[in-house]
Amino acid sequence: MRFANLDGRAAVVVAGASGDLAVDVAEASGGRFPADPQAVFAHWRAFREWAAWSLDPARGRPFAPEDLGPPVPRPAQVFAIGVNYAAHASEAGYPPETAPVTFTKFPSCLAGPVCEVELPSATVDWEVEMVVAVARECGDVHPVDAWDYVAGITLGQDLSERTSQLAGSKPQFSLAKSFRNFGPTGPWLATPDELDDPCDLAISCSLSGETVQSARTSAMVYSVPELLVRLSRVCRLLPGDLVFTGTPAGVGNARTPKRFIQPGDVLVSELEGVGSITQRFVAGPARAGLPPAER
Ligand code: ZN
Repeated sequence: MRFANLDGRAAVVVAGASGDLAVDVAEASGGRFPADPQAVFAHWRAFREWAAWSLDPARGRPFAPEDLGPPVPRPAQVFAIGVNYAAHASEAGYPPETAPVTFTKFPSCLAGPVCEVELPSATVDWEVEMVVAVARECGDVHPVDAWDYVAGITLGQDLSERTSQLAGSKPQFSLAKSFRNFGPTGPWLATPDELDDPCDLAISCSLSGETVQSARTSAMVYSVPELLVRLSRVCRLLPGDLVFTGTPAGVGNARTPKRFIQPGDVLVSELEGVGSITQRFVAGPARAGLPPAER
């Protein structure tokens, strides 16, 4: 099942004869499930059953990808994992860690799959990532059960302002990765059964036509189950929480010479079995303490 946010309303995406169609969840369920996409996660198990058995695909209507919002628009918690691919840890100069490096992207940075992003500086970098949504409240998850707590998988960019991220003796991961629209996600949430092997998906992104990252999620140091086990030892995980699972090698900050996103660049990210998201970049007003984006 593909779960989407269409114009702020929960929708199920179904395959039509000439392309994807969207079924409005609140209308098609006669109000049994809410219109607010975030609110659906409180009823995820019942919603999945309804979508599997009672949803009428004939109610599907065409839609424009630009009208999709983030499939999980207001998560209570957003976990993000750093250096979760060995090749990226190596290029970034980080030694192997004994636990997942964890920070947050503040939820106000989340955006839909097709959006424009204002560059606050000339040092904004790309990080394509698989993103996991939590299906229901849990703590002390056991690795054998971990996938039962996954509502679905989506694709995200962990856009990162490197100057503020790495300034000072205590890096500012969370703030530097939370500028407006720095967390685009989508195009929808694919339930794990939609994917041939949710543990081994091709993931990539291209900047203005050049492939800059390309890997498989099976190369993650900490797998999805392992991340849920470790995070849930500390925090209760809540329905509709997100986990950005880390980026593979190929970021701009690790290149020689370094390369960052310029105004006019288009970033297209892809995740096998899920789809693609597209961000266009424009120069924004310089933010305090940051060098201005080149115009
Ligand atoms: Zn990241």
